[in-house]
Amino acid sequence: MLNRTYTYKLQPSKKQIEIIDHNLAVCKSVWNHALYKRKLWYNSRKCDINKCSLISEYVVKPFEYPNYHTQSAELTQAKKTNPYLKSGNAQAMQQTLRKLDRAFNDMARKGMGFPRYKKKMKSFNLLSNKFEINGNHLKMPLLKNVKLRKSRDIPDGFKIKQVQIIKKASGYYANLMIEAQVDIPSPLPDGHAVGIDVGIKNMLSTSDGLIIQRPSFLDKALRKIKLLQRKLKKKRIGSSKWNKLQKKIALLNEAVANRRKDYHFKQAHKLCNEVGMIFVEDINFVSWSKGIFCKQSLDMGLGQFFEILEYVCFDTDTFFAKVNKDFTSQICPNCGTHTGKKELNVRIHFCPECGYEQDRDIAAAEVVRNRGLNAAVGAPVVKRTSAVLDSRLQALEMNSRDSGSAFPHSLFVQETAL
Ligand SMILES: [Zn+2]
Repeated sequence: MLNRTYTYKLQPSKKQIEIIDHNLAVCKSVWNHALYKRKLWYNSRKCDINKCSLISEYVVKPFEYPNYHTQSAELTQAKKTNPYLKSGNAQAMQQTLRKLDRAFNDMARKGMGFPRYKKKMKSFNLLSNKFEINGNHLKMPLLKNVKLRKSRDIPDGFKIKQVQIIKKASGYYANLMIEAQVDIPSPLPDGHAVGIDVGIKNMLSTSDGLIIQRPSFLDKALRKIKLLQRKLKKKRIGSSKWNKLQKKIALLNEAVANRRKDYHFKQAHKLCNEVGMIFVEDINFVSWSKGIFCKQSLDMGLGQFFEILEYVCFDTDTFFAKVNKDFTSQICPNCGTHTGKKELNVRIHFCPECGYEQDRDIAAAEVVRNRGLNAAVGAPVVKRTSAVLDSRLQALEMNSRDSGSAFPHSLFVQETAL
């Protein structure tokens, strides 16, 4: 099964905009109420088992944990008596509950933050097997026929499974999740291998010596946004000038996000060009962005870049894998010696054991490549000096002669392949 997401700009009529906005508002209240119920449950269980707090204690009538199924059943019940809920699309509301459920799961599994109340709902999802694109129109439940700017064709063999309607500063969009019933084998480890090290000064460095710096367009745009935000503070909240500025900032943020994504795709394609395997560090960007790298890492969106890189690798039949990130900047890529921690201003890796000298980030990328190769292909990647290799080969030959067994080919091939 192959899944893809295509985004199209919608050109809805006035009435359709009304329907979208109304459903966004209903979904927002569903989200906030469901989140309130879950928070209530969490808060009522905060009390220590053997004592009460001196200040206050959260006491509610005990109730079962509101998981997706109980909340969904509750919604169905509430719709019978609540005309506001009844006016919204049932599918969109159910999917909102599912999204909330996923947010709670992500919190436990990926270390994401506690879900928050929403001031604005930005999107809702619709599931159906009746989606269809006719010319410049998308046929779907809820909106019937909605006009879209057809920027690309849906490839043959794909079916639209889900549609996400999104409201952005620049208008309305539809994310079409399409699916094809084909089995595409994952790329196999083969060909030239590249390791990638990411950082703050250099956005990424490869083991082939390519260094890509932090894109400058980001800094320019972010400076402009900051300036406008400072202006916004001086305006009265809700005034027409405040609204205008707010809109301007939202548009700029959207433009930055678009350019960043575009940039990531371009870099990913560049990296995948004529390469068989790509290895990256397995970094938890959630905790990364909380640490000293906070702002810059968010600006660069490295987490998004890795996702895009994995996607592009799959499309270009390049093997992609994540490797352990520990000590990549401290180990010598040439001989594997632990050379100790480097200060941030030390830009060169120099190994006192074997005398290997290399740019710090490129050396780290080489360590990543070596680790990846070791895990994927199983080849020993530490280069040995010829004297060591010769003596080991001699020992092997002696061994096989003494025991009379056949020469261990596999070992021989692995050693000399380098
Ligand atoms: Zn060394």
